Amino acid sequence: MAYMITDACISCGACEPECPVSVISAGDDQYVIDASGCIDCGACANVCPVDAPRPE
Ligand code: SF4
Ligand code: SF4
Repeated sequence: MAYMITDACISCGACEPECPVSVISAGDDQYVIDASGCIDCGACANVCPVDAPRPE
């Protein structure tokens, strides 16, 4: 299981430095998670102001 970032993302960047395995990056329209490396910790969801990262 991994988290994914939904369309609700406003590209604030708050989640990127919180990821312990650095799999969050800025994409073209919003931030994205490389699901292959996500360890499902939920840290990104905890800091997101719009609740965009969700467990897949
Ligand atoms: Fe990174 Fe954890 Fe979010 Fe996965 S759930 S992208 S490991 S902060
Ligand atoms: Fe997008 Fe939420 Fe990450 Fe901000 S914290 S970049 S709104 S997913």
